[in-house]
Amino acid sequence: MLTGLHVVFIGGDARQLEVIQKFYEMDATITLVGFDQLENKFAGVKKERLSEQLLSTADVILLPPIGTDDKGNINSVFSGEDLQLSEKYFKSLAKHCSIYTGIAKPYLKEMCRKHQIKFVELLARDDVAIFNSIPTAEGAVMLAIKNTDITIHSSNCIVLGMGRTGITLARVLQGLGANVQVGVRRGEQFARSFEMNLKPFYSKDLVNHVSEVDLLFNTIPSMIITAEVIANMPNRTVIIDLASKPGGTDFRFAEKRGVKAMLAPGLPGIVAPKTAGQIIANCVSEIVMEDYQIWRNAK
Ligand code: NAP
Repeated sequence: MLTGLHVVFIGGDARQLEVIQKFYEMDATITLVGFDQLENKFAGVKKERLSEQLLSTADVILLPPIGTDDKGNINSVFSGEDLQLSEKYFKSLAKHCSIYTGIAKPYLKEMCRKHQIKFVELLARDDVAIFNSIPTAEGAVMLAIKNTDITIHSSNCIVLGMGRTGITLARVLQGLGANVQVGVRRGEQFARSFEMNLKPFYSKDLVNHVSEVDLLFNTIPSMIITAEVIANMPNRTVIIDLASKPGGTDFRFAEKRGVKAMLAPGLPGIVAPKTAGQIIANCVSEIVMEDYQIWRNAK
C-alpha cells in the first residue's frame, strides 16, 4: 500500500484515469492538476491548480505518456487551462520527489538534471514497450484494414525492424494468414525470424524486396523507406509508419509517386486507451512501490 505517499497527477488523457484508479486503490494521497472537467469519482481526491506550494508537498509526480513538450507544456484533455511546468516548479520540488512519465523530451530531461530530480521514462522500459506492442499491433492492423481493399490474409506484408513492436506485429500478421517478410539488421534477428517461419532479409537490402509488397509497416526510427525504395514498389502499396516522429519514410516522395503512406503515432492511446492505461498503471505502481519502501526505510 502507498498510505501517506502524496502523488500529484499533472494532465493526461483517458489512459491516466487507469493510473489514478490504481493509486487510489493503493491508498495514496492523490491531487489532480488539470482535471477540472473530469467528473470526480474518487472520494477524497482533491483537484487543485498548479502551484509551487502544492508541488513542494509532492512525493511523486505523474505526467502523461508524452510528458511535456519542449517548452514544458503538458497536454490535458480534462482541462480548459494551459498547463506549463516551468522552471520555478522544478525548483519547488522536495529532493526526494520523483517524476514518472512515458517519455521525457529534452526540456524535461534538462530540468530534472539541473535540479537533481529523479525521473523515470516508463515507455523506455522493455516490459512496458512489449506490453504496449499489443495495442500498437492491433492499431496497425486496424489502419491496414481501413486503407486497403484486400484482406490481410494472403497479402504480402513487410515489417521493418524486429524489436519489441516489430516482433509482435509480424506475429499478428502471420496469425492472420499474411505472407510476412521482415527486414532486420542483425544475424540473431535473422535467425529468430527464420525460426518463427517469417521470411527475413537484411534491411540494408530493402530496395530488392519491395516489388510485390501490399503492406509495408515500419518500426525503424530512421530514414529507411527512401525515394529509391518507394520507386521500386507497386502503386498499390500502403506504407504504415509506426516509428516515432518523423518516422522512417520519405513522405514527400511517396505522395509524388502516388503511394499511400501514413505516420501513425500513439496507437495504444487511440485504439485501446483503457488497456494502454492499465499497462502504465501496473508498471508505474510497482516501481513507485519499490521506491517507496526504500525511501520509507531510509527515513
Ligand atoms: P525497438 O525495440 O528498439 O525496435 C526498433 C528496431 O529497429 C530494432 O530491431 C532495431 O534494430 C531496428 N533499428 C533501429 N535503427 C535501425 C537502423 N538504422 N537500421 C536498421 N534497423 C534499425 O523499438 P520499439 O519499442 O519496437 O519501437 C519502435 C518504434 O516504434 C519507436 O520509434 C517507437 O517510439 C515507436 N512506437 C510507436 C508506437 C505507435 O503507436 N506508433 C507504439 C510503440 C512504439 P536493433 O535491434 O539492431 O537495434
